[in-house]
Amino acid sequence: KKYIYDFCEGSADMRTLLGGKGANLAEMSRIGLPVPPGFIITTEACHKYWEEKDFIASIWEDVQAAVARVEKLAGKKFGASVDPLLVSVRSGAPVSMPGMMDTILNLGLNDDTVAALAKSAGDERFAYDSYRRFIQMFSDVVLGVDIVKFEERLAKARENAGVKADYQIPAGELKKLVADYKEIVKEAGREFPTDPWKQLRLAIDAVFRSWNTPRAITYRKINKIPEEYGTAVNVVTMVFGNLGDDCGTGVCFTRSPSTGENKLFGEYLINAQGEDVVAGIRTPVPIAALEKDMPEVYREFHRIAKLLEKHYRDAQDIEFTVERGKLYILQTRNGKRTAAAAVRVAVEMLHEGLIDEATAVSRVSPEQVEQLLHPQIDAKAKHDVLVKGLPASPGAAVGRVVFDADEAAERGGKGEAVVLVRPETTPDDIHGLFASQGVLTSHGGMTSHAAVVARGLGKPCVSGAEAVKIDLAAETFTVGDVTVKKDDILTLDGSSGEVILGKMALMEPKFDENFRELLATADKIAKLHVWANADTPEDAKRARDFGAKGIGLCRTEHMFMAAERIPVMEAMVVATTKEERVAQLDKLEKMQEEDFLGIFEAMQGLPVTIRLLDPPLHEFLPKIPELEKALAKRDPNGAEAKKISATMARARELHEQNPMLGFRGCRLGMIYPEIYEMQARAIFNAACKLTKRGLRIIPDIMIPLVGTEFEMKAMRELVDGVGAKIIEESGVKLEYLVGTMIELPRAALVADQLAKYAQFFSCGTNDLTQTTFGYSRDDAEGKFLAEYVQMGVFKENPFAQLDRDGVGALMEIAAAKGRSVRPDIKLGICGEHGGNPSSIAFCNKLGLNYVSCSPFRVPVARLSAALAAL
Ligand code: ADP
Ligand code: MG
Ligand code: MG
Repeated sequence: KKYIYDFCEGSADMRTLLGGKGANLAEMSRIGLPVPPGFIITTEACHKYWEEKDFIASIWEDVQAAVARVEKLAGKKFGASVDPLLVSVRSGAPVSMPGMMDTILNLGLNDDTVAALAKSAGDERFAYDSYRRFIQMFSDVVLGVDIVKFEERLAKARENAGVKADYQIPAGELKKLVADYKEIVKEAGREFPTDPWKQLRLAIDAVFRSWNTPRAITYRKINKIPEEYGTAVNVVTMVFGNLGDDCGTGVCFTRSPSTGENKLFGEYLINAQGEDVVAGIRTPVPIAALEKDMPEVYREFHRIAKLLEKHYRDAQDIEFTVERGKLYILQTRNGKRTAAAAVRVAVEMLHEGLIDEATAVSRVSPEQVEQLLHPQIDAKAKHDVLVKGLPASPGAAVGRVVFDADEAAERGGKGEAVVLVRPETTPDDIHGLFASQGVLTSHGGMTSHAAVVARGLGKPCVSGAEAVKIDLAAETFTVGDVTVKKDDILTLDGSSGEVILGKMALMEPKFDENFRELLATADKIAKLHVWANADTPEDAKRARDFGAKGIGLCRTEHMFMAAERIPVMEAMVVATTKEERVAQLDKLEKMQEEDFLGIFEAMQGLPVTIRLLDPPLHEFLPKIPELEKALAKRDPNGAEAKKISATMARARELHEQNPMLGFRGCRLGMIYPEIYEMQARAIFNAACKLTKRGLRIIPDIMIPLVGTEFEMKAMRELVDGVGAKIIEESGVKLEYLVGTMIELPRAALVADQLAKYAQFFSCGTNDLTQTTFGYSRDDAEGKFLAEYVQMGVFKENPFAQLDRDGVGALMEIAAAKGRSVRPDIKLGICGEHGGNPSSIAFCNKLGLNYVSCSPFRVPVARLSAALAAL
């Protein structure tokens, strides 16, 4: 079995086997880009490593042979006493995973080879700089020695030499440093291997081992990365960015990861190696400066960046190193980006002809669309900026200051809004980042760890705010003479880099042109229409602005909740005779008609689905204890007391043990037809008036909680009766439909009977989930549902993500039976699932005509509908 691939043997489509990093290194070699020679040990080897004892021994000869091939290409020998070959050992899973092993650079150095390296490079400082880096990295990553001691000793070396930066430490001082480093390793009870082959073997072992470290496992859980993947090991010939001023190392995005602007966006450091740029130790300079520093190199880099973008048809994130004026590419991958950048890159690449419409749409995820709808700081609001850092990940965050990642994870996990403040972040902090509203770091650039992770998670981040002086022990930070303590409230603006003390007001985001275009493209691809649930003209307008193609649920009961209407509604409910009831209904009818006029007008030309009264009547009365209290305050013989007593009597009469399954829905219309008649009149009058004015009004009248053919027939006749009369009187032509919700298992099972009278079905999956599982949502969510998800009873809360096996099966039956009687029956969904991407995919599969969700979720649903259709 082949477990090792040279770079020249692999390609980009071998990502599962070679890992992302390895596959792309191979691909770049294949198309002739300057990649240092190397090889990849496959992810299959990783599985073997975990299955078999001493697996590495069994492939060791192959590793040696691969090194020999690299030696040939590089023209250097591993472990040689002249011009030795050094390598980096890098992990790389099929998907990017910062939770895994850190890269080890300069592997192959020992007291002999370091002297040889100094000689061949003609630079002692460089050789010992490489050596001290190697000892520290290897000790940390492979031997598990605490790096604090190394850092402290390094700081002392800078002090001794009287310099600020590591690269200024002279060779003599570095030699002493290396000697002390070895002591530190010994003191930690570890032995530093001097044999390069032993170093290599231990490093490979460490990469495989790192697949199952707690932080890697956590990262996979959070990001839903399958356990089966495994990591590959990349062994790459070292190239050196720390050989002097004609050397350097950097990272660069081909387009801005924050905004998506089509412009190289990166940072580099002269005379530096590896992670110096992202570690935030020295603050790097923007890539544009490279054009002045090394014009040749810049031109070459620019050419390669564009080429890679064309080759991969996506924005790239590239790592490069310049060794004595020669450019090497060390990694490329599709660049992580903010939601806004994802949209812009997708739309612009579509315009540039690099990708087609389907690809453009699939470049943006529903989660990213959701992020774009996150609130922003109101730029016009007055505010004092405490400090400004780099705008590393956009969006606004407000929360209490926390300095410790574990604490952030704990408090954030409980739902508290916290902002994590750190000198810089490491992969060990990821759980804290995940649970925070946002993160502020005093060091690190736009490509620092904190920035990259925050952008991936959609968390606002301000990085490199150097004026922030953090005292981790005291849990405070200062900016000038201002001291900020733990638990103080901070607002971060990751779009501007501003940090504000206290809580700022946030405002709704706006849609830009690119976003509109992307969603319009999604609409072209989608088979489902996206409608919205809206009860007021304002909601209807918003829904339309967000691109809703109809209203799938207008809940009429919400119209009765307005302060001035409650007394009328109450009187209607309390009424004991039909006459009294009708008198109150007449008043309500005028109000309802007003509402419908507003909504119909906002939605003219598009269908509006109006659900007739659904909740049990007692919900409109005050609670009995409240009434008792009110009564106690009144004169017992007064008129007021009488009225309250009457209300109380009625409330007692209407009281239900289980209102969810009680006297509600069409049962109200059956027993009190005058209520539904009133609503139908209001609908038809409003619709006819507007039709007369020349607007196109399309009402769909929806009967809730139907379970029997009898009910459906009666309600259809009731609505048609009212409609025929009003339409005739007004002399207009009005097309309308009468349909029902499918929210009882029985309704689904007898859908063929219902479809004789129902012209459309809308799956009310909130109630349908309750009635199918026999859970009362309000009782279940607080009590056992979360535990159920934890126990694995189901993967997701079925009220959030549609239960395909049960609820979905009922929907399928309803659709099939409905179509068998009425082939063109209109089918939709109006539960909250209508805005959930996975549930939308299911609705697409059932061939529903539309999903309806809250106005704010319409953009998410539009994209999801397109993705479902691809
Ligand atoms: P990560 O997955 O964390 O990005 P990498 O394996 O890409 O880790 O490496 C970390 C750093 O080391 C990067 O800056 C990379 O460019 C640099 N690096 C890795 N291999 C080499 C090499 N052979 N020569 C020079 N620099 C290298
Ligand atoms: Mg790393
Ligand atoms: Mg890398």
